[in-house]
Amino acid sequence: MTRPTNAIVIGSGFGGLALAIRLQAAGIRTTIHEARDLPGGRAYVYRDKGYTFDAGPTVITDPAALEELFAIAGRRLEDYVELMPVSPFYRLCWEDGDIFDYVDDQAELDRQIAKRDPADVEGYRRFLAYSQDLLREGYVKLGATPFLDFASMVRAAPQLVRLQAWRSVYDKVAGFIRDEHLRQAFSFQSLLVGGNPFATSSIYALIHALERRGGIWYPRGGTGALINGMVRVFEELGGTLRLGGAVERIVTAAGRVVGVVAAGQHQACDMLASNADVVHTYRVLLGHAERGRKEGARLAAKRHSMSLFVIYFGLKRQHPSIRHHTVIFGARYRALINEIFKGPELPQDFSLYLHAPTRTDPSLAPPGCDAFYVLAPVPHLGSANIDWTVEGPRYRDRILAYLERYHIPGLAADLDTCRIFTPLDFRDQLRAHHGSAFSLEPILTQSAYFRVHNRDDRIANLYFVGAGTHPGAGVPGVVASAKATAGLMIADARRAP
Ligand SMILES: Cc1cc2nc3c(=O)[nH]c(=O)nc-3n(C[C@H](O)[C@H](O)[C@H](O)COP(=O)(O)OP(=O)(O)OC[C@H]3O[C@@H](n4cnc5c(N)ncnc54)[C@H](O)[C@@H]3O)c2cc1C
Repeated sequence: MTRPTNAIVIGSGFGGLALAIRLQAAGIRTTIHEARDLPGGRAYVYRDKGYTFDAGPTVITDPAALEELFAIAGRRLEDYVELMPVSPFYRLCWEDGDIFDYVDDQAELDRQIAKRDPADVEGYRRFLAYSQDLLREGYVKLGATPFLDFASMVRAAPQLVRLQAWRSVYDKVAGFIRDEHLRQAFSFQSLLVGGNPFATSSIYALIHALERRGGIWYPRGGTGALINGMVRVFEELGGTLRLGGAVERIVTAAGRVVGVVAAGQHQACDMLASNADVVHTYRVLLGHAERGRKEGARLAAKRHSMSLFVIYFGLKRQHPSIRHHTVIFGARYRALINEIFKGPELPQDFSLYLHAPTRTDPSLAPPGCDAFYVLAPVPHLGSANIDWTVEGPRYRDRILAYLERYHIPGLAADLDTCRIFTPLDFRDQLRAHHGSAFSLEPILTQSAYFRVHNRDDRIANLYFVGAGTHPGAGVPGVVASAKATAGLMIADARRAP
């Protein structure tokens, strides 16, 4: 075999783009094939009547990982996109009228916590210290380390045991904090990466320390501006991005990938990384090979994270009192979350996340207007086979009516534009198994070595990047997966004769 010099990346999500930048910067000629008309994957952008809507990620954490990525390419992040601090990090609201502003100011946090339960001030400090420990062990040391063999898991085991990684996020938080609303406030974050706080490994409580250490940021122009900055760097380095053409098949010969078929054309490559859904990659793109059929069936049977129902809407009036990020807890927490993860039906109540980006960047809506999105976690299609073509408009109306009643008076009269994204869209537009929003559920038995490996065990030049591989979903997760996968690909390319 000649020295590998060209790579194909299937998909232009955060993970695919971050990997492609690293490969191109290392001198590996890289082409990204993206099925949709715009890059970004879950970080797609809708533009309607002068409003800009980020389709997915809005909470940008760990800016240092993004700075590192741009630096690898010899660039400075700030020359491509401006990250603006968001404060409070989140406003948390409950139906009984209780409000908690999760801010970065320790004195202000202490004041709000003490008002609920003075003992929780010390409990919170101990939780923060635990979370910082998790961050060091689980993210800084292991986040970008590929777990290719069981020995790597055994090496990490003592730390996982010490940190009690088998316990759930909520369970650990409840061990430190007594107030029920505060327990919810410091455990819901695992939902941002598709994890049930009552089932996901407590390792994911590290998100709290990540937020406190690096802050929460928002790109001027929206998350899409960060995606565009990454595309610009990739193309300046000489990389090629092909939009609007799904890869239909991964072509193999003698147990290796030799290319892909996209838009009916064969494209040859020396190495291939898939940023697409892991079940789709094995079951559909490699469905002609035994490896694809077997692995596809094995992964399809695993636990997949919940889906989301999202409403993007613009209002002809501004609501300055609504913070950039608001989490709205319904009357039930544990029972609701369990129904969302297990089905078999769509729960009648909901908990919501409301995004109001015009608080930080007014340019995302016409003058005097506000852009919003609201999302509700919902069961994926495998646990509740709902006909969203019927239920979607009904669910939209119920959520908007709820928002109007509790948070946004006059919403219906001010509605200027509105669109929805349902589990069917996750399945059909993003090719996500069961319409899952975050790929494989991040439980301990589906993490690290037990997650899809960054390099396939049998097909030596097939790699994975993104939410389905190690370390997992969320922007910091998939950017770390790109680092892990790029390390393998670059080393393999250099080793090749
Ligand atoms: C509504 C929502 C809100 C979120 N909010 C946050 C947040 O605030 N903060 C945070 O950190 N994370 C958030 N997340 C999670 C985060 O967005 C994702 O985990 C992350 O963006 C996934 O990136 P990825 O690299 O796995 O690729 P994806 O974004 O999943 O992209 C994969 C790409 O592959 C393409 N593709 C699939 N099949 C093919 C094919 N056959 N041929 C060509 N292309 C193909 C798809 O079109 C897609 O563009 C959110 C997710 C959602 C859905």
